[in-house]
This record gives sequence, C-alpha cells and structure tokens, in this order.
Amino acid sequence: MSQKSNVDLGAVGGDGHGTPHSLSTNHPSHPHLDEDDDFPVSPRYRRIDHYGVDSTEAIAANVYSILTHIGEDPEREGLLKTPERVAKAHQFLTHGYSLDPKEILTKALFKEDYDEMILVKDIELYSLCEHHMVPFFGKAHVAYIPDGRIVGLSKIPRVVDVFARRLQVQERLTMQIRDAINEVLQPRGVAVVIEATHMCMVMRGVQKQHSSTTTSAVSGAFEDERTRAEFMRLIG
Ligand SMILES: [Zn+2]
Repeated sequence: MSQKSNVDLGAVGGDGHGTPHSLSTNHPSHPHLDEDDDFPVSPRYRRIDHYGVDSTEAIAANVYSILTHIGEDPEREGLLKTPERVAKAHQFLTHGYSLDPKEILTKALFKEDYDEMILVKDIELYSLCEHHMVPFFGKAHVAYIPDGRIVGLSKIPRVVDVFARRLQVQERLTMQIRDAINEVLQPRGVAVVIEATHMCMVMRGVQKQHSSTTTSAVSGAFEDERTRAEFMRLIG
C-alpha cells in the first residue's frame, strides 16, 4: 500500500522528547480500501500538506499566551516547542475544512444495478467539539440503498473523516454525512448512526465517565420502519 497518505503527526503525538510519531490517515481496519492511492488528485480531494507557515506562527503565538494565562511558564524546557506543536496539531485536527467531500464521492461513482443495502460499519471517528475544542470520538455506521449508482467503499470513511476533521457538534456531523451522500449519489436512502464519547463531558463538569451519545440521521427508504430496523439490526 502506498504511504503517500500518511501524515507526519509529530506535532500531535510527539512525546516531548523529539520522537515524532507517524500515523496513517488510512483506516487500519480497511487496508484494502484505498484503491485510488496512485491516482493524481487535486488539493481539494486529498490534502497533502497540512501546515501553513503563517497559520502555524499565528496559532503558536496564541498558544504561548494561553500557557501564560493558565499559570505556566512557556519558557521552561518542556514547553519550549509546545506552541508550535499545538499549532500543527490543530491544523491537522481541522484539516477537513480544506477537503471537499462531494469531490471525493463524485470521483468514485460507478453505474451499477445493485439495489440492496450497502453498509459500512464501525468507521473510526475522531473530531473536536466546537464548544470546547476538546475531542469526541467513536464510531460511525453508514448505509445507503443505491439507485443506479454506487460509490467506491473506501470513500464512505473518507467522507466521515472530512466532516469529522472540523469543529463539530455530533448532530450536525451526522446530518452532513447523510446529506453529502444523498446529494452526490441520489440513492434510494441513506442512514448514518454515530456513537461517540465526548471528552468535554468525561473530563469536566458532569464527569459521566462511561456515557456515550448516539445520533442518527436517515433519509428516503430508511424512513420506512422495516428498512430502518434492518439497518439497526445489522449495526447492533
Ligand atoms: Zn464540548
């Protein structure tokens, strides 16, 4: 498999001792799905470079200020590179803004008469809540019933990721995934369920450490109770 879609996450996962980690943006559970890695792609399709020099400097200056205001000393050794690391991390964690989910779907459309439910389940999801800029993470399950057009299976997790890598509320994230698939594929129906744990709930305030939130958004054929029930049974 090509390594081109790997992203240097040194800024995100660095352990503070100069050991950058490298994480793949591919979904490890679906290693066979990135069949288009060798195709030439536009910047709005797959973002190669995640860090802008100007953005990194500007965000880092603000992080420096935050460190001061929470009572830290940004000049102590362990924190010297933290503003830059945080700046890069936030650019990576929000890189979905620069990607176009509709373009991703449009480029992998195929005519096909298959008219049964297509389900991609247990899609790993990492996002940031827009109220606290703190992570929420979990799994997405996406199903659709085609109407003459199907999309390459790997594109469903990609679309989830494009919307997840923005500041989000879980409800809107769920609907945006449904709507993008609806608009491009014009299928007989789409169903999206997201189960996620919100660190802003777990770590602060209510501290309900084992709570998770489930949201769903359906359209078309999935508004029928039996179809929806079959989808829920399959993801159960
Ligand atoms: Zn929050």
